[in-house]
Amino acid sequence: MTSPRHCAVIGNPIDHSRSPFIHEQFAKQTGLALRYDKIRAQAGEFDAVVADFFRRGGVGLNVTLPFKGKAYALARPRLDDSATLALAVNTLYRRDDALCGANTDGGGLLADLERLRASPADKRVLLIGAGGAARGIVAPLLLAGCGSLRIVNRHAERAHALRRQVQEALPTAAARLSSGSLDQSTGDWDVVINATSGSLTGEVPDIADARYAPGALAYDLVYAAGPTAFMVDARDKGARVVSDGLGMLVAQAAESFAIWHGLHPATAPVLAALRQALDAERQ
Ligand code: NAP
Repeated sequence: MTSPRHCAVIGNPIDHSRSPFIHEQFAKQTGLALRYDKIRAQAGEFDAVVADFFRRGGVGLNVTLPFKGKAYALARPRLDDSATLALAVNTLYRRDDALCGANTDGGGLLADLERLRASPADKRVLLIGAGGAARGIVAPLLLAGCGSLRIVNRHAERAHALRRQVQEALPTAAARLSSGSLDQSTGDWDVVINATSGSLTGEVPDIADARYAPGALAYDLVYAAGPTAFMVDARDKGARVVSDGLGMLVAQAAESFAIWHGLHPATAPVLAALRQALDAERQ
């Protein structure tokens, strides 16, 4: 019998991670022998833990808070475009004996928007938040052809810094990108993405002057059993479609799985199983 391919997710905290469930479902579906662990690392030991994991024959590591920036530094210069543009890595692997990094968050979001039949192409997109998650999705949204993209954030200077960084990296897309504070969300938006962590504590970002255009989508990167406070608020204010980020979580995992194993699992059954598991936990 072949020994299972060893993968893991590394972060701190890590107990809450759904990645083992998702990857085990993908493995079952594709007939792959897989062992997928959770690794809780302390800040000072991240590099050593990663090195040890691959020295022992590990195939792939997912990286989550607070280590995406450290993973970026470690895998430089062997990064794919998504990681280079995001300055963050959520997927580590080895090629030709060198550590490589990718960022599958943006691809995961785009795949989930396709699932929701809400391609961002030519759309007016409002992105709330300028943290790590927002960094991973700005360039993919621009490259997917969104008509305009405005980044707003509680601390406006972080939104401006993110805008400048992406404009430097993608000068041809610069004119479609703008930034501001939360109260500079005025306008009609086809897609509103909440990339803040506010929903974790039931807080809705104050974008009072933003209007949902007819047919608009409101997308919360946070996922939960039941709709988030942002989704409820968006529905009240006229968004036609509202979604949490569970589909993005599964889709970004599918991209990591493909990088590591060369296999492309179906995401729909895994998303359904995960949703069921989340709902069951609530009862
Ligand atoms: P982060 O780097 O800590 O950034 C947090 C962001 O939220 C910042 O923009 C921060 O604004 C803003 N924020 C926090 N509390 C707020 C509030 N009460 N009102 C307004 N803005 C607030 O976190 P992150 O890595 O970007 O992650 C953000 C969320 O996305 C997390 O909850 C994470 O679980 C989720 N996520 C989901 C997926 C997925 O696959 N679905 C992937 C990645 C992340 P300031 O800069 O002004 O402090």
